[in-house]
Amino acid sequence: MSDMLGHAEAQNDAAIGIAIETGLLQTCPIHDDSLLPGPNDILEDAYKLASARFKAGDEELTRLFSNQRELTDRIKRVVELRGDDECGSCNSAGNA
Ligand SMILES: [Zn+2]
Repeated sequence: MSDMLGHAEAQNDAAIGIAIETGLLQTCPIHDDSLLPGPNDILEDAYKLASARFKAGDEELTRLFSNQRELTDRIKRVVELRGDDECGSCNSAGNA
């Protein structure tokens, strides 16, 4: 359970969850593993929510991240990894 890969994935999942909650990211309505830019492009909003949760002692976040900075860095990372405006899976389904 404590392998590094699993831990990194859990950190990503938590960061993605916060990004989706604030509208920074959204998932394709058809492919829920496909991350797209959301309606709210303000990274700061996700940082604020993350910081507030961390400070409040959120059990999952404080277990996964040793400090707030680590959490906000991870959010920045997952947002940078998001795809284009269009879902790659929908595109490859051939509706071009
Ligand atoms: Zn899709």
